[in-house]
Amino acid sequence: MNDCIFCKIAAHEVAAQVVYEDDDVIAFEDVNPQVPVHTLIIPKQHYAHVGDNVPPDLLGKVFSAVRVVAEAKGVAESGYRIIANSGEDGRQTVHHLHVHLLGGTRLPIRMGPAD
Ligand code: 5GP
Ligand code: ZN
Repeated sequence: MNDCIFCKIAAHEVAAQVVYEDDDVIAFEDVNPQVPVHTLIIPKQHYAHVGDNVPPDLLGKVFSAVRVVAEAKGVAESGYRIIANSGEDGRQTVHHLHVHLLGGTRLPIRMGPAD
């Protein structure tokens, strides 16, 4: 995917604050954090979203990285939330599978009204 910003981050062609990286997964700070801890976890390989026929072992690697990132960011004990916006109604804006890890504050219990 030539024009995918997250592919470029995964390839280190675009700079990002990397929190964790291995052969298959990279995690980096969201450029526009919504809460004190806002890290994105992505497979290096391009998949549009979580429903894009992602190999189960790769999904496992992405979700295993959640725990590592939570520990690195110091929220493993206090707790956090993970979100994977998927597709149009999910309000996904970057169409490369990513998991938001949100924390560092007490998050609201539920979502607000649709806008
Ligand atoms: P989505 O709405 O697709 O679930 O979330 C995309 C996220 O990617 C947003 O929170 C946005 O701030 C973040 N983002 C978009 N472009 C970049 C970028 O170039 N670098 C980084 N680090 N984050 C980005
Ligand atoms: Zn991509």
